[in-house]
Amino acid sequence: MEVYDMLIIGGGCAGLSAGMYAARLNLKTILFAELPGGLITTTHTVENWPGIISTSGPDLGSSLWAHAKASGVLMKSETIKTVEKQGDIFIVKSSRNEYHGKTVVFATGSIHRHLGAPGEEEFKNKGVSYCALCDGAFYKEKVVAIVGGGDSAAKEALFLAQHASKVYVIVRKDILRAEPANHKLVMNQPKIEVLFQEEVAEIFGTESVEGVRLKSGKQLNLQGVFVAIGQIPSTDLAVQIGASLNDKKEILINRHSETSVPGVYACGDCTDTEFKQAITGSAEGVTAAYYGFEYVKGAGGF
Ligand code: NDP
Repeated sequence: MEVYDMLIIGGGCAGLSAGMYAARLNLKTILFAELPGGLITTTHTVENWPGIISTSGPDLGSSLWAHAKASGVLMKSETIKTVEKQGDIFIVKSSRNEYHGKTVVFATGSIHRHLGAPGEEEFKNKGVSYCALCDGAFYKEKVVAIVGGGDSAAKEALFLAQHASKVYVIVRKDILRAEPANHKLVMNQPKIEVLFQEEVAEIFGTESVEGVRLKSGKQLNLQGVFVAIGQIPSTDLAVQIGASLNDKKEILINRHSETSVPGVYACGDCTDTEFKQAITGSAEGVTAAYYGFEYVKGAGGF
C-alpha cells in the first residue's frame, strides 16, 4: 500500500502553497483539485499579491499550480468524496480511487452564496451569474447589476464596466465595504451607479433575464445579474473526520494551521481566519506544510 506523507484537498492559493512547501520539505505529497488554481482564477485583476504589481487571477492560479508541480507535488484532478482514518492512516476516496496518507490538509475553499430570490435558479446561466470574469464578455453594451456590498462586488463591478453600457451595484446597507482603492474606483467610474439600501425582491424575464424588482418597488430593466454576496466555506469533508467548526461553519485552526484532529490541517477560505485573502490563505498553507512535516517527523516518518 502506497502511503503519502501529505494529502492536500484543494488546489487554490492555499492548497498549492501548502503543496509547494511540503514537497520542498521532502514530504511525499499528493494534491487533489476540482478547479486547478481555485477561486482566484475567476478574478480579473489581482493587485495585492506582494511582489507583483498587477496580474490576472488565471495567471496567478496557473503560476502557483506550475510551481507546486515543479516542486514535486503529484497533482490529481479528482473530487474527493470521503475522508476517514484507520489506525494512524488517513484514507481519502474519490469516485475512482482511494489514497492513503499520514496527514491531511483541507484547502477546500468556499462556494458562492446564493441570493435565494425568485428567478435566481430559473435564470442561472441565462442572465444570472456568480462570476464576472467568466461571463462578463457576454454583456457588451448591455445593462447589468451586481448584488453585494463587499470587495468582490466592487471588483466585479469594475470589471463589468469594461464591457457593459451600465452597471448597477445593489447594496443592502448604506455602505460599500470595499477596499479603499476599489471603493474610490467604483465611485469614480461613470458607468457604475450604486444603489444603497436596496435589495432584490425578484429576478424576472422570459427566456432570459429582463430585469429585477427591488424590495423598494423600483424596477431595473437589464440583461444580467451578477451575485457577489459572499462565500460559504466548503467544510463537509472536514466534518466527516471530526474537525471542529465555528458557527459560520468554518474550520477552527490555530496558529499552526492545526485543526482539532491531530494530523489534520486546514488553510485558506475554509478556515475561521479573519482575512479571506489569497495571500493569507497561502501563508496558512505554508504553516500547514511545516507543522505537517513536524507531525510526520515526530511519528517516525523520516
Ligand atoms: P463579503 O462577505 O465581504 O461581503 C458580502 C456582501 O454581500 C456584503 O455587503 C453583504 O451585506 C452582502 N450580502 C450578503 N448576503 C446578502 C443578501 N442575501 N442580499 C444582499 N446582500 C447580501 O464578501 P466578499 O465576497 O465581497 O468578500 C469575501 C472576503 O474575500 C472578504 O474578506 C474580502 O476582503 C475577500 N476578498 C479578497 C480578495 C483578494 O484576496 N484579492 C478579493 C475579493 C474579496 P452586509 O454587509 O449587509 O452583510
